[in-house]
Amino acid sequence: MRLFQLSFNPFQVNTYILACADGDAWVIDPGMHTDMEKKAFDDLIRGNGLQPRAIINTHAHIDHILGNQHVRETYGAQHWAHTGCIPFLDRSPEHAAIFGLEMEQPEHPDLLLDDGEVLHMEGRAVHVLYTPGHAEGSICLHIPSMHMLFAGDVLFNGSIGRTDLLTGDYELLLHSIRSKLLVLDPDTRVFSGHGPETTIGFELQSNPYLR
Ligand SMILES: [Zn+2]
Ligand SMILES: [Zn+2]
Repeated sequence: MRLFQLSFNPFQVNTYILACADGDAWVIDPGMHTDMEKKAFDDLIRGNGLQPRAIINTHAHIDHILGNQHVRETYGAQHWAHTGCIPFLDRSPEHAAIFGLEMEQPEHPDLLLDDGEVLHMEGRAVHVLYTPGHAEGSICLHIPSMHMLFAGDVLFNGSIGRTDLLTGDYELLLHSIRSKLLVLDPDTRVFSGHGPETTIGFELQSNPYLR
């Protein structure tokens, strides 16, 4: 399995591309918005012979969904997300406008992901973990066989997601992190929605919010 990472839009969201040897790929949180960002994404996809099959949103804050339409329309990718994302998707053009960003009204997901669901890529299990608290509809993706976690805006290197936005809940976020993420193997590499990579073990030892 191959992993690529790009950062996009004024919020510097991390967009991850997870690809099989044969090129089939999932795009986690496509954030590309400007023509230059779309080109950077397309160049990476074509340069590596990838075919985006699915868009997976860890949650539906606009920074994580700005590029959904580009990936869907350019590559025919399906859209997968938790049902809790739908109210955010419905209001996303309005939310984007607050930041001076233009966005078309998105469609609803093709597939709704739920807690405990197991997806498969290249024969490897990818577990869906429902982790609310930062935003309703938040999920993390865990690949046990590769010790990898895609954490969205739930857990960051040295920090945790903000909880002052719509549907944010500090206690619920801490519960999600403790019950779903900190129980994973400490060697698990964590790829967050913003900022640098970390590990579960490093955050257990040093994250000031988790003492
Ligand atoms: Zn967010
Ligand atoms: Zn974010």
